[in-house]
Amino acid sequence: MGRVYNFSAGPAVLPEEVLREAADEMLDYRGTGMSVMEMSHRSKAFEQIITEAEQDLRDLMNIPDNYKVLFLQGGASQQFAMIPMNLMKNRSADYIITGQWAKKAAKEAEKYGEVHRIASSEDETFSYIPDCSDLPVSEDADYVYICENNTIYGTKFKELPDTKGKTLVADVSSCFLSEPVDVTKYGVIYGGVQKNIGPAGVVIVIIREDLITEDVLPGTPTMLTYKTHSDAKSLYNTPPAYGIYICGKVFKWIKAQGGLEAMKERNEKKAKVLYDFLDQSKLFRGTVVPKDRSLMNVPFVTGNADLDAKFVKEAKEAGLENLKGHRTVGGMRASIYNAMPYEGVVALVEFMKKFEEENL
Ligand SMILES: *Cc1c(COP(=O)(O)O)cnc(C)c1O
Repeated sequence: MGRVYNFSAGPAVLPEEVLREAADEMLDYRGTGMSVMEMSHRSKAFEQIITEAEQDLRDLMNIPDNYKVLFLQGGASQQFAMIPMNLMKNRSADYIITGQWAKKAAKEAEKYGEVHRIASSEDETFSYIPDCSDLPVSEDADYVYICENNTIYGTKFKELPDTKGKTLVADVSSCFLSEPVDVTKYGVIYGGVQKNIGPAGVVIVIIREDLITEDVLPGTPTMLTYKTHSDAKSLYNTPPAYGIYICGKVFKWIKAQGGLEAMKERNEKKAKVLYDFLDQSKLFRGTVVPKDRSLMNVPFVTGNADLDAKFVKEAKEAGLENLKGHRTVGGMRASIYNAMPYEGVVALVEFMKKFEEENL
């Protein structure tokens, strides 16, 4: 059985070249006589892996020196708590609610302080990004929080909100490294890597230095304090070493493709094939307002739940896997992350055409 086209939202497809390289190095990493899974995180070999991974990420995203890069655990969901614990000096924060992940983050933050939901698109089942050009940003807000790409609903902020000078915190789990980014516009950028970068178990936090302090909320565990990990260069305790190693390989793969400009071009080209088809289809339709469409996650429906289920089943039989929409929204969703080849999207569209002919 060969490899399928995997449209999973996460954990998700990884570049085949990276998987092959990892396979080659599985038993003996570069003459060490052991797998990266088996080596000390304090070894020379691993030190080089994590140092290079950080440097490659810095190169790719053009991360300024006054930002730290942390490789942590606990997934994106742990950041929902870590952010308020470390940043809520006034115990006040503003959240923009564009989907389940932002909603969950806001709810978690409520454990630590006052949360203002200053914009939301829940009225239209999160099918658009609210206008964020003149938000009622709270005077005492410690930060403004967004989920930049909404994995479940398939929307993306094409323009960052005007935070009126407040620190911007962004969950970029599902759009990490999908296009160039101006890091200086954010206080914190973070994401679980299992969507667009690597295996589950690593979360990357890019945080401006002045936000890393000892002045955290009382009772914040050592392990949930950014300063702990920043001071120890992500080696305070055993890090998710193998995951970091794979992330490092993906960074090198992206560099070899031409960096984030090239990624953006590729991703736009892939997404266009699918959106163009959806826009003229008589059976399928996209569920997102065109101007807010994500390049990464593309939800669509036929409008008939039975037909949706039939589509997902037959697509799987044709080697197009994990097209079922999120359990909270139904329908279909094609996640077409960096590592999804153009040919995969074309194969999906060809299959959709055929399905439309047979079922219309
Ligand atoms: C998947 C996802 C999460 C949750 O990630 P975990 O690592 O499972 O905690 C949070 N935010 C976004 C945008 C996601 O796509």
